[in-house]
Amino acid sequence: AYVIGEPCIDVLDRACLDECPVDSIYEGARALYIHPDECVDCGACEPVCPVEASYYEDDLPKSLVPFLQDNARFFAEP
Ligand code: SF4
Repeated sequence: AYVIGEPCIDVLDRACLDECPVDSIYEGARALYIHPDECVDCGACEPVCPVEASYYEDDLPKSLVPFLQDNARFFAEP
């Protein structure tokens, strides 16, 4: 799945929301999140992000890897 990383925090440009064919991008309080089970890896969200926050999970820069936990927390059952 693709993952939206730390650059999205407090930016929430939302350009990606219009691009995602399966509506797998969700809005948090401070950032957008991609549902790991719903994303179909089409890559459409990556080029439209003005802050380059979206990466394929295996291509995530090391500095953004910690954000995977934040992502998991967002989608964890309450
Ligand atoms: Fe949606 Fe495609 Fe981005 Fe996955 S890679 S979140 S399916 S636009």
